[in-house]
Parts: sequence; C-alpha cells; structure tokens
Amino acid sequence: VRFRTSRGGMLDISAPAAAVLVGHRQLTPDALEAGGMLLGRHIKGTSDFVVDEATLPIMKDRRSRFSFFRIKKPAQNRVTEAWFESHGSCNYLGEWHTHPEDDPSPSGTDEGNWKRIVTKTRSEHTSLFFLIVGRTRIRVWEFERGTSAPAELTELA
Ligand SMILES: [Zn+2]
Repeated sequence: VRFRTSRGGMLDISAPAAAVLVGHRQLTPDALEAGGMLLGRHIKGTSDFVVDEATLPIMKDRRSRFSFFRIKKPAQNRVTEAWFESHGSCNYLGEWHTHPEDDPSPSGTDEGNWKRIVTKTRSEHTSLFFLIVGRTRIRVWEFERGTSAPAELTELA
C-alpha cells in the first residue's frame, strides 16, 4: 500500500506492516479497536518514508469498541529496541488504530491525541503519520509540528 504526501513524497506500507493492519480490521460486531505504532525509515535524500513495522496491541492497552488507548512505557522500549536492531535506521513514524466503520475519519478525540503526540514527541522528523484502519479502507494523515491540522495523504493505486 502506498500513499502520496502533501509535499510530493511517498509513504510506503511494507507487506508485513500491511498484514498487521488488515488483520486487525473490526469486521465483527464485537471486535475491539486495536492500535499501535508505526516504525520505519525516512529514505535519505528524498521525501519518502517506509513503514517497516506496525506494532501489535498489547494486553495492557485499554481497548473498547469505540476507543483505544495505548500504554506508553513498553511502547517506548520497543522503539528503542527497533532503533538499536536496525543500527539507527528504524524510527518512530507515528500511530495506527482501527475504527468500526467502512471508510474511517478521525474523531475529535483522535485529532486532540494526534496534536498532543506531535507536540510532545521528540523525533528527528518534522511531522508524524497517523493511520486509521477502517473495514474497507485505510486512510493516513500527516501532522506537521507547528501546524494546526493534519493533512490527508492520497492513496495510490
Ligand atoms: Zn479513532
């Protein structure tokens, strides 16, 4: 799966990451929201990013049909681990979560959370990606630090 950013760069979702996202779609009435982090790389000398890994929800995350809160500490350890394993190339790129709707759009809570994460996260990138997995469609927004609202990416066929 591949998206184009507002600045003309690409965001590529690797096959293993896409499998995690698609595998957590809320297809049944009792399926809970799921989510995790997007880990990956900026391709040097380009505006392109690759999501290598979508981390799995963990037991301690608070999940319901209509909400998902990721607990922070183990997640931070996972980012550090990925960074070391990849000799510094694999970084935190953003967050993903599911919605129980076909074509997802961010809730007010989502936008508030994203803004808080963008403001608080120390990252070498000026923006982070926020992905929502709907039942039939995946959408991605890029939130640039210092801006007031996220910009949606365009999915490429
Ligand atoms: Zn949401």
